[in-house]
Amino acid sequence: MNDSCLFCKIAQGHIPSHKIYENDKVYAFLDLSPQNEGHILVIPKYHGEKLKDIPDDFLSEIPIAVKKISLAFEKMNGKELEYNVLQNNGSSSGQVVMHTHFHIIPRFEGDGFNLHFAPK
Ligand code: C5P
Repeated sequence: MNDSCLFCKIAQGHIPSHKIYENDKVYAFLDLSPQNEGHILVIPKYHGEKLKDIPDDFLSEIPIAVKKISLAFEKMNGKELEYNVLQNNGSSSGQVVMHTHFHIIPRFEGDGFNLHFAPK
């Protein structure tokens, strides 16, 4: 962990967040500026800027956490969570917070939200 990193501080509880899920390797919380209702960030409890910097034992926990979160949503709401998983990797890709994180962006029929992956 890095004492000057925002997401390390959040994962350690030094900065408050709305926690969604946690285990010894990952922490998930609501995004402060959601792209859509229920936007969640899942981060490894290991400080690394990019995907390649994260050890496999931390990285491999991320999709498992995403699955658990989606199943919990389904159990609570009685319907399937539809969502995009997005990971910006490097500033050219749009990464702003330099601690690897995965966005879970819930999707709703007709929400009009567009993901633009193709270069203009
Ligand atoms: O992938 P990228 O680095 O652009 O995403 C950073 C995300 O972190 C943004 O969605 C932003 O809203 C979120 N964020 C947050 N709490 C903060 C600072 C940033 O949820 N204090």
